[in-house]
Amino acid sequence: MDGVTNLDAKPVETACRSADSDGMTVELLAAREVPLGGIRGMVVRRVLPSRTVPTVGAWCFLDQFGPQRTDMRVLPHPHTGLQTVTWPLVGQIRHRDSAGNDVLVRPGQLNLMTGGRGIAHSEFSVGDAPLLHALQLWVALPAGSAGIDPGFEQHTELPTLEHDGLRATVFIGQLGGFGRLGGGDDSSGVGTAVSPATVYSPLVGADLELAAGSRVGLPVRPDFEHAVLVVDGELTVAGTPLPAGPLLYLGTRRTELEIAAPGPARAILLGGEPFPDDLVMWWNFVGRDHDDIARARADWAAGTTRFGHVTGHGDERVPAPALPAVRLTPRRRRPPVRPG
Ligand code: MN
Repeated sequence: MDGVTNLDAKPVETACRSADSDGMTVELLAAREVPLGGIRGMVVRRVLPSRTVPTVGAWCFLDQFGPQRTDMRVLPHPHTGLQTVTWPLVGQIRHRDSAGNDVLVRPGQLNLMTGGRGIAHSEFSVGDAPLLHALQLWVALPAGSAGIDPGFEQHTELPTLEHDGLRATVFIGQLGGFGRLGGGDDSSGVGTAVSPATVYSPLVGADLELAAGSRVGLPVRPDFEHAVLVVDGELTVAGTPLPAGPLLYLGTRRTELEIAAPGPARAILLGGEPFPDDLVMWWNFVGRDHDDIARARADWAAGTTRFGHVTGHGDERVPAPALPAVRLTPRRRRPPVRPG
């Protein structure tokens, strides 16, 4: 199956206009079921990009797969202009890339691949039809960094923060300690956790595990926009009931997220400074415009050296789909639904 990468059989080119400052908002973004290519006809649940919210900070793509027993065999395919975070909740994935890495991706560990000007990788499950539940996230690289050298980081130890029944694993950026940003005391009592991951814009990503009956006020940066995806159980976030499935977009200008868990629950928190650049996303490429995408597709199709070679697969690779016949017309972020 094609589980944790964007292997749409018929990818649609998506324009992500630079963010307007929407301020504080509450918007529930439904997951779209996206059938992927391949003989098993797998389906992922995609919440980013969405029609109304293309990006949350630089987070520009979020797919969820499983839990499902399956053999995952994603052959070498290219990426540009982004970083990928493969975040298994259950199961392990073998990652091989054209920068020479061959690693196991395990739950609770960060595997951050930087596509930059171009990289290729493969992703295979381990063992015989293992149980897999995984998230695939993409971070758009800002204009000055989109063409950087490709690379890969694995962080087997990530910082955690524990408070009032919450255990947060911070895989990107920083959580807590924001009182000091404004020069004041950090009076939240939550503490601070900072991920060692290399990112290129102000960003946060954290895996939140909550005990039954817990209620926590999580300090966040008011200049960031935030969103929460429940992957197990259910939560109330900023007064809004949130089941597993949709993405709750919360806008900017919050200093605290109030999170309550009636039962045990697990969720992903994403946040970042509203992304300043227009983006075009198609297949596995993030570009500045249509021509960026067309060049990347042509280079992959021609087998140029741009994306390197992933060893262990012979000449097998995922072919690029056909480009859409029309050039893209960028569209704006739609007006948010404001509370009250
Ligand atoms: Mn991929």
